Amino acid sequence: MSEIFVPLVKRSEGFKALKREVIDKDFCTYCGACASFCEHIVLKERPELVEDCSLEFEDVIQCGENGICYDVCPMTETDEEELEDAFLEGEQDGELGIVRKLTAGSCGVQGQDGGIVTCLLLAGLKNEIFECAIVAMRTSGFRAEPIIAESGEEIKEGAGTKYVAVPMVSKIGEAIKEGKRRIAIVGTPCEIRATRKLQLALLEEVENIDIVTIGLFCFENFGYELLSEKTRELLGIELGKAEKVQISKGRYRVRSKGEERSCKVAALEDAIRNNCFYCDDFTARLADISVGSLGSPEGFSTVIIRSKKGEELFNLLEDFVPTDVDREEIIRTTSLKKDKIRWGDELPPVLK
Ligand SMILES: Cc1cc2nc3c(=O)[nH]c(=O)nc-3n(C[C@H](O)[C@H](O)[C@H](O)COP(=O)(O)OP(=O)(O)OC[C@H]3O[C@@H](n4cnc5c(N)ncnc54)[C@H](O)[C@@H]3O)c2cc1C
Ligand code: SF4
Ligand code: SF4
Ligand code: SF4
Repeated sequence: MSEIFVPLVKRSEGFKALKREVIDKDFCTYCGACASFCEHIVLKERPELVEDCSLEFEDVIQCGENGICYDVCPMTETDEEELEDAFLEGEQDGELGIVRKLTAGSCGVQGQDGGIVTCLLLAGLKNEIFECAIVAMRTSGFRAEPIIAESGEEIKEGAGTKYVAVPMVSKIGEAIKEGKRRIAIVGTPCEIRATRKLQLALLEEVENIDIVTIGLFCFENFGYELLSEKTRELLGIELGKAEKVQISKGRYRVRSKGEERSCKVAALEDAIRNNCFYCDDFTARLADISVGSLGSPEGFSTVIIRSKKGEELFNLLEDFVPTDVDREEIIRTTSLKKDKIRWGDELPPVLK
């Protein structure tokens, strides 16, 4: 028997359970983690099994006991404390999670807010903290796809928020297959959770793999078609032709042909992805460093440093201009996000 064929002690369902408990219930965040290392899964409109899964064969297993796809999914059972212990170092700050430092500022690069994420990536690449960064690149219209950026130009091109699900975590497997060992990833809180689960379940034993995680604050995300429809209906703008989309202070603002129009974010309720109604993480509690707009003035970013790795990266910023940060505002929104969870419904395993 070759080395990779290990006797299966407990029969498990692998992808079948993921499909039944997450995908078919519309809890999938489309993070791409399940497909990152498994060639049986492809990301179509949803993740799909294209070939027989190895766990369907008696007595053999090529991945974890439950199936790596199930283990790494951000919507399956998650031991957040275990992940905090494994990756973070700082004070436990209630709603905000582990915090070493809370600050806000900008750094002179054109970004969505203070350009901090782009500056962190540029500084990390320049100082060889990582060899590449997984960022979201705008494609046709306002759609986006993840890319493995290896140059400052690509990182700058990826700046700006895309309010659609982009399967960022799917690229970790590809980057490692390409020979990359030090990787940065930007992601929403669910994507950071998936990355941490992947690190713990699969990558812990692999030598020299180092992943830096930059989390984005996230209250909700949208389905592309539904958001396009709403933008046309409420603002008379084709989303695909928008220059910038911004959600802040309760308003959805879209700039097109140099003109900005806006409406209340509440009017977009029908375009929100279903999985976002079952999410309690606003500030990316498991990231090395989290960045958002809430809590700081317009044109600045709020920054939460949660690990030594995050601190080292932050200390490399050359042109950081600090400003005041409103901690209470962040805490209020974090609680509001929890209140919005549809607790009365059937819940995804992560919330049980
Ligand atoms: C779906 C979504 C919802 C958000 N909601 C809030 C909110 O409610 N409140 C708040 O304060 N902040 C929110 N943010 C974060 C905010 O919009 C900014 O991304 C953040 O403040 C960083 O700004 P910056 O200028 O430092 O980033 P930039 O320097 O512009 O860099 C942004 C980085 O994010 C990456 N990125 C863009 N879109 C995505 C995506 N969909 N998935 C993964 N990576 C992506 C880009 O590739 C780029 O590397 C949200 C972000 C997203 C993606
Ligand atoms: S990750 Fe494992 S359980 Fe999941 S589909 Fe692939 S082989 Fe099957
Ligand atoms: S791992 Fe991500 S893409 Fe796969 S089922 Fe879970 S949420 Fe969806
Ligand atoms: S609200 Fe939660 S589930 Fe939805 S995209 Fe943001 S982090 Fe992911």
